[in-house]
Amino acid sequence: MSGDAKIPAEAAALAAEAVRHLWWLRDAGVREVPLAAAPRPAGAAVVAVAKAAPPPPALSENGCGSEELLAIRAGLGDCTRCKLHGGRTRLVFGVGNPSAELMFVGEGPGADEDLQGEPFVGRAGQLLTKMIEAMGFARSEVYIANVVKCRPPGNRDPEPDEIAACEPFLKAQIAAIRPRVVVALGRFAVQTLLRDATPIGKQRGRWRAYEGVRLMPTFHPAYLLRNPAEKKPAWEDLQLVMKEFGKTAPGRES
Ligand code: SF4
Repeated sequence: MSGDAKIPAEAAALAAEAVRHLWWLRDAGVREVPLAAAPRPAGAAVVAVAKAAPPPPALSENGCGSEELLAIRAGLGDCTRCKLHGGRTRLVFGVGNPSAELMFVGEGPGADEDLQGEPFVGRAGQLLTKMIEAMGFARSEVYIANVVKCRPPGNRDPEPDEIAACEPFLKAQIAAIRPRVVVALGRFAVQTLLRDATPIGKQRGRWRAYEGVRLMPTFHPAYLLRNPAEKKPAWEDLQLVMKEFGKTAPGRES
């Protein structure tokens, strides 16, 4: 490579790194950064983070609504701990109430989540929202996260090394939020969190424990979209959770 060609390549790499850093700052809720680290005179120019990316969501919407969650998100940074980082558009940290008593954990981001940076926003996410509301909660009252924070290519299951790299951050989120109940959504999340390869059909509806928190395994909303007949047993699982919160069923989710 000639010297002339190398300079633009290095500049492009630096620019890409700068953009990645701005995305990370935006995800952490930072609205603007100074142009230089040195003290700047009053009125000096700042770089608006929003110019490098769409307007950032509120911190609470971005899953970092407490000091502890913000510190965990900062610890993740522009994470490259596993190979999933290479295919992501956005790291999907979590969403919801940082003091939630009820938390939902899925497998990993899909295509819609990868684009929007928020878990459960596609069709399955819409069904999850209906399920949450049928339980007598608002989506904003609960916290939603995944076992891995970056989208596996082709929506394949996350691999053991990817889980090993990412699960500590889920555990840290649970420790920060301290929910009364975690609902594990789907075969993969249930089997991974519980280290139990028993089929989901036999694990669902039975109280378990994860990180000292009561855990209810149930079907994934995406599975329920493909298998509507399984909504009835899933609803029975959610009613067990509702009972834990002293809530009565207003009716079945649709
Ligand atoms: S999946 Fe988790 S560990 Fe892997 S790159 Fe993404 S945030 Fe990092």
